[in-house]
Amino acid sequence: MTGGPDAAAPDAPVDRDVVVVGGGVAGLSAAVFTARHDLDTLVVDPNGSILRRNAHLENFPGFPVGVNARRLLDLLTEQAENAGASLTNARVVRVEVVDADTPDAGESSPADDGRFAVTADDGSRIRTRYVVAATKNETGYLEGIDGVGLLDRGKTFVDTDERGRTGVDGLYAAGRLAEKPHQAAVCAGHGAEVAVTLLEDDDGPFYHDWVAPEGYFSDRGRPIPPGCEEIAEAERRRRETRSLETMRERFGEPHPDDQETHPSLRED
Ligand SMILES: Cc1cc2nc3c(=O)[nH]c(=O)nc-3n(C[C@H](O)[C@H](O)[C@H](O)COP(=O)(O)OP(=O)(O)OC[C@H]3O[C@@H](n4cnc5c(N)ncnc54)[C@H](O)[C@@H]3O)c2cc1C
Repeated sequence: MTGGPDAAAPDAPVDRDVVVVGGGVAGLSAAVFTARHDLDTLVVDPNGSILRRNAHLENFPGFPVGVNARRLLDLLTEQAENAGASLTNARVVRVEVVDADTPDAGESSPADDGRFAVTADDGSRIRTRYVVAATKNETGYLEGIDGVGLLDRGKTFVDTDERGRTGVDGLYAAGRLAEKPHQAAVCAGHGAEVAVTLLEDDDGPFYHDWVAPEGYFSDRGRPIPPGCEEIAEAERRRRETRSLETMRERFGEPHPDDQETHPSLRED
């Protein structure tokens, strides 16, 4: 698809590097990685992950006796924000490819930055270089885009390659939406994988997102690879102290929110 007459002007300034549509486990995990790599990242979500319905999450790595799923989502949201991502409460209603075939495209080419226009139900319209779709089974905002395959299997999914790429450069799908198993850990991991794929596809240099002890690379005469960081022991201790304090505080009390349930079971 190309953008319609009302598409954001192709020469409009780019608002974001990455718009993540859907702030569940896959979308938030993707945002952590793109934001940590200094891509200006916005997560758009109206009401939160289906994981909010979980009663007690017992198979997410790192929690030997389980964790409150609402707590995990809060922590993941906080982690994305700490990484530099912004979050906004809205539903995306349309994604357009604003390319050279767009009316009034002028001299712009598809290779120009900001080739997508994302419209949300709050009236906002955002130009972005990349889109990561992570909306579980909601695909209405992707309908009609040439190159995006939608798979109807009772629920709708997006056809991707093994790294989450759709048929449109710069447009990715992550998590359950990309037909990953209906498990939080798998979808979180896939969100991270898709973000790393995006970073590798981007022109910027990227190796791994690693924090390594001081000297790990440099003492072997190797430059610190892009995306990696070496930290001294004092800095490691400072970060650990902050982490301990933060987690003690976050896990000090039961989560205030009740689990949600299936909409068909609600009494209201
Ligand atoms: C009752 C229940 C219990 C579960 N228990 C477990 C468990 O114990 N262990 C486990 O591993 N998994 C469990 N799951 C499954 C797990 O919740 C999902 O597999 C996982 O959340 C999928 O991640 P996702 O990011 O792909 O989708 P989600 O986490 O659902 O995120 C999708 C997000 O997209 C947003 N969105 C949708 N449409 C739009 C739009 N147009 N614009 C913007 N945002 C949009 C939604 O608001 C949502 O936040 C459970 C699920 C349920 C229902």
